[in-house]
Amino acid sequence: MRQVPPQAVPAQAVQVVSNTWAREKHNLFDFESCQLHRQTFTVQNSMMCVRKDTNVDMLSERTSLPLESDPLFQIEQKDGAFWVDNAALPRSSSETPWLVVRDMPTGGHRLSENDVIKLGRLKFRVRQLVASVHGGTQPDLRLPDSGSSCCPNSSQDELRSTMCRICLQEGPCEDDPLISPCACKGSVEYIHLGCLRHWIHDRLGLSDASDGSFFYRPLPCELCTAIYPTYVMVEVSRTEPPYIILENKNFSHGFYVVSLAEKVAKLGRSKESHVCINDISISRCHAMIRFDDGQFILEDNNSKFGTAVAMKKPWLLESGTMSVQVGRTVLSLFVQPDPFAASCQPMPPRTGSNEQEERALRLSLLDHGSSRAALAEVVSGAGAFEEPAHEAAARVVP
Ligand SMILES: [Zn+2]
Ligand SMILES: [Zn+2]
Repeated sequence: MRQVPPQAVPAQAVQVVSNTWAREKHNLFDFESCQLHRQTFTVQNSMMCVRKDTNVDMLSERTSLPLESDPLFQIEQKDGAFWVDNAALPRSSSETPWLVVRDMPTGGHRLSENDVIKLGRLKFRVRQLVASVHGGTQPDLRLPDSGSSCCPNSSQDELRSTMCRICLQEGPCEDDPLISPCACKGSVEYIHLGCLRHWIHDRLGLSDASDGSFFYRPLPCELCTAIYPTYVMVEVSRTEPPYIILENKNFSHGFYVVSLAEKVAKLGRSKESHVCINDISISRCHAMIRFDDGQFILEDNNSKFGTAVAMKKPWLLESGTMSVQVGRTVLSLFVQPDPFAASCQPMPPRTGSNEQEERALRLSLLDHGSSRAALAEVVSGAGAFEEPAHEAAARVVP
């Protein structure tokens, strides 16, 4: 996460525009929907933001939670600055607040290890970020082991006449031991470590020509279905830095190992994606990760259900705009340097369409801050996705 150390921006108020999707579906928010319920607020003190049906409300922190309403988050005023937090909300009913990547001040989010990112309804944890070859770091692909033992049960003498079930050669080689990696017994019990790794290499769809991007998952023995232990699985590929490892937190356990060497990684449902995710809540080209100036930057590609990063700690509102998604509500927050409204009064009704209204509001707010460049970056960042398809390397998912 960013913001270390926090740089407090003296602020008098926070302008909040909430949009709530009328449908309740997997905690998703549809960024393309016309059925959004829009409200605006000006917040000058610490407030609790709650939702009942499609209606969002700002309550004083001393107010008890109304029946059947969901707490979304708090806006805390501390030392003249405003923070977004959810620490004091009732845990049982609160959803995680997510930072909306497309509305980040720079148009993207600088990833850190252990960030949890959300594409549509699917979640991924950033397991490892490797920027350079320094130290020869290789992918950390350790998995909770199945507990199967790989120690040979036979004596060294017996092993010399034991056959590898893949290459059919007898006995261990100098740097290639015979191991018993699964629950198989008898004539298929033993296998050369090298032979097994070669087989795993093929099963993961790793070609020698690739830069080491692949989807890594625990592989079972095809005969006894025991999962091969971690030490067998590692070192199956040499991945070219910079690379990122994303842990799949959803339907199947495994890791996306994605090299960003000389390319921007595309994440999406399209077969051309480097990280190909086949789920209906994922857009064809949903998001991308680029390596820029030593940083791994996550960007959204105007995806239908959005790209977001879990808010793990209180988030300081700086100049400009940021948005928080809680379930089917997205709240955009703009720091106001000047007071212009009473605390938490709904804005007077405006004329014109919702889009015009929000645009006018944003533009008026931009004049106060330095967000114009940031917004322009969001727009140009989205255009950067229009790259020729031939730049895409082999997709990660076999
Ligand atoms: Zn062998
Ligand atoms: Zn087996």
